[in-house]
Amino acid sequence: MTALDTTADAPADTAVPSVPSEPTVRLRTAEEYRAGLRDGRKVVYQGRYIDDVSTFPEFDTAIEHSAHAYRIAQDEPELAVAHDDRGAYSAFYRVPRSPEDLVARGRLIESVCRRGAGTIVLKEVGSDAVFGILRAAQGQGRVNAEAYWRHVVDHDVALAVAQSDVKGDRSKGPAGQADPDLYVRVVAEDAESITVRGAKVHTSFSANADELVVIPTRAMNPGDEAYAVAFAIPVDTPGVTLYVSPYLDAPRNGFEHPISSRHKMLESLTVFDDVRVPKSRVFLHGDVEAAGRIALAFVDYHRFTAVNYKLPLLDALVGAASLVAEANGISRAAHVRAKMTELITYAETVRGFADLSALRAVEGEGGVWLPDPLSTNMAKYHFAHGFHEAARTVIDLAGGLVATGPGGADWANPEVRAVLEKYFVGAVPAEERLRAIHLVGDLTSGAWGGYQSVLATHAEGSLEAERMQILRSFDWSRPRAYAQELIDLGARA
Ligand SMILES: Cc1cc2nc3c(=O)[nH]c(=O)nc-3n(C[C@H](O)[C@H](O)[C@H](O)COP(=O)(O)OP(=O)(O)OC[C@H]3O[C@@H](n4cnc5c(N)ncnc54)[C@H](O)[C@@H]3O)c2cc1C
Repeated sequence: MTALDTTADAPADTAVPSVPSEPTVRLRTAEEYRAGLRDGRKVVYQGRYIDDVSTFPEFDTAIEHSAHAYRIAQDEPELAVAHDDRGAYSAFYRVPRSPEDLVARGRLIESVCRRGAGTIVLKEVGSDAVFGILRAAQGQGRVNAEAYWRHVVDHDVALAVAQSDVKGDRSKGPAGQADPDLYVRVVAEDAESITVRGAKVHTSFSANADELVVIPTRAMNPGDEAYAVAFAIPVDTPGVTLYVSPYLDAPRNGFEHPISSRHKMLESLTVFDDVRVPKSRVFLHGDVEAAGRIALAFVDYHRFTAVNYKLPLLDALVGAASLVAEANGISRAAHVRAKMTELITYAETVRGFADLSALRAVEGEGGVWLPDPLSTNMAKYHFAHGFHEAARTVIDLAGGLVATGPGGADWANPEVRAVLEKYFVGAVPAEERLRAIHLVGDLTSGAWGGYQSVLATHAEGSLEAERMQILRSFDWSRPRAYAQELIDLGARA
């Protein structure tokens, strides 16, 4: 993707950015996606500016991980390619118009995240945000949202979503902060553009996506008008700087790290330093009441994405538990069978709620359907609440070698390997056992496992956010009416 053009005859500092117009390429290849990342984006990593993210070696694993979002269109077109009167396009961006569309979307997300080893890949989050805006934006914002959806579909654009503001003192709202820039806000406006300042954080994929969709993180109150803003811009828009987290930075070998040697995401602190946004790309501006609606409309889709992308991770945990128990020769022990039952119950309850959330889908504004918020939030809450206990069970079954086992370099040395093969044999040969144990380590307790642990707790909203949505979306009429009926029966007795 290119930077927003500046008008040719205006000075650079006053030019109004225009929306890029490129030839329509409705389905890009993984190679085209990677090449599109070569632009003027400003990215800081480990204290240094990066010239070209598309060739920067330390981002290679993350870009390859995300490229699955493009490869799946070639490999599984029945799942990943949709069609309209203009031809084929990425099914990630198919607007859900029925429960069946949401069932299909759930299967697509599960499948692409199976390739991504149980972690989100790229296009899921951006499409969640576009659907949320399509449903909740009003007036000109809705018109702009529809045009933006068309642009994303026609150019197979990879989007990152910047929702979480840095937020400062959590007890205060946007306008109540000592520094007014702790939530992204509008600082100027002219006929053609708005100018925004502030910072979002935890922005997944920002360094390896084409564009940023920026939406409010919370409900807002009168006085917060400047903070009620939603828009989309290319990542290389002047004034945007990404400070990318170095988490999981070191190169890894496949023996010790079967997953994290091949998979990784990039997150950033995303700073908007007086960034000009064309009004055609603004979906919300000043309407405090609509800010909360847009925030929640995104979340309706995003937690559905979350529970579907967790399904391969849960399969990996349950499968690893079974393989490692077998390797250790303990699979028939009574306590192991009880723990396996608990793991299955946990994982299949999440799967059941994930399915239910699509089957109980409801029609939203403009005929855009959304997954049932109650089932979706129960799925996400159940997943997040039980994840650490499930990880502990798998570690328990694997034994202490998860932390003290030999490394890839040891295994590669024939002399050392002979010792390892003799002493680390279990009910299966040492190699089979050690590889299963390292899978458990990567999933639960190494840097990737630690990342998953935080991801489970906070990504797509903290536990408390899910509790609030469960309470908000529960329909009290049936149980209250029944309780009242019982009271009335007693009163008549
Ligand atoms: C790996 C990862 C990827 C992510 N990707 C993205 C992304 O792509 N885009 C994006 O926008 N966000 C992303 N997030 C952000 C995620 O949604 C947030 O981490 C989550 O919403 C929690 O926000 P926080 O981190 O600011 O924590 P906080 O909100 O500070 O939460 C910390 C604790 O404070 C509590 N708390 C917060 N506010 C209050 C209050 N007012 N009163 C009482 N208690 C309060 C919370 O319940 C929690 O217990 C990602 C997060 C992770 C971990």
